[in-house]
Amino acid sequence: MRPPATADDAATDDAATSAPPPATDDAAERASGRPGGSTPPALTVDGAGKTFENGTRALDAIDLTVRPGELVTVVGPSGCGKSTLLRLAAGLDQPTTGRVTTSSDAVSYVFQDPTLLEWRTALHNVELAGELTGVPRAERRRRALATLDLVGLGGSGRQFPRELSGGMRMRVSLARALVRQPDLALFDEPFGALDEITRLQMQTELLRLFSAGDFAALFITHSVSEAVYLSTRVVVMSGRPGRIVADLPVPFGYPRPPELRYDPAFAAFAGQVSAALEAHA
Ligand code: ADP
Repeated sequence: MRPPATADDAATDDAATSAPPPATDDAAERASGRPGGSTPPALTVDGAGKTFENGTRALDAIDLTVRPGELVTVVGPSGCGKSTLLRLAAGLDQPTTGRVTTSSDAVSYVFQDPTLLEWRTALHNVELAGELTGVPRAERRRRALATLDLVGLGGSGRQFPRELSGGMRMRVSLARALVRQPDLALFDEPFGALDEITRLQMQTELLRLFSAGDFAALFITHSVSEAVYLSTRVVVMSGRPGRIVADLPVPFGYPRPPELRYDPAFAAFAGQVSAALEAHA
């Protein structure tokens, strides 16, 4: 672990705020405790820009790599293009300049709203992706039950979304994403609408799933504390058109106990992220 940074360091740390270092296999491996090896990045964003048809320039040239074993969070002011970046990563939209590539087609997307089908049980919501992709019935049932177990909803598969709490609905949404065994999981502020206690529980839950799973993740959030608690790297974006102004490896290993949030070193690193955000809002 490197020595804790301070907020004052951040204000003067030009190297951290102006020249994002490229992530390396070694960096990912050290941060996550899992081997990055020589496998290709799960996501490569190479000079990607996005200008919409109405002339809105949402993203400047973005360079970003997410390697296996990394959970990279992106923070930035509202409207700076975070969701646009995620949509490009998901292949839901195309960049107007540059390129976005993923190492595999197994990419899952988790929205802020769980977007469950109200007329299907939790189990049937999780099974849906398998149905659409032609996974045989017994196999998709087995996978869905195992994934519901994984997210702590083993006993709730027969319940309908209206019978579930906000946190449980989000767990179903996570199960629906993970049942596909993604190589890359994309999260668009999934916990933003949850109450504070449920949000903290879901952060713990996501870290457990990330440690147990085998996927790389790109996670959008407004919350600096959430970003620092969850990720191996925090990427800070400027105001629109969004560009990356800092790419900060998080100096804490996994597992991360909830009490880490009250550690002075955690506060100091969060201060460094906030300073980068404020300097480029
Ligand atoms: P963020 O997720 O950081 O809040 P978005 O990626 O949603 O930001 O949006 C970035 C900018 O692009 C905003 O100004 C938004 O209004 C604009 N925008 C997003 N989608 C479209 C679209 N389909 N057409 C035109 N402008 C868009």
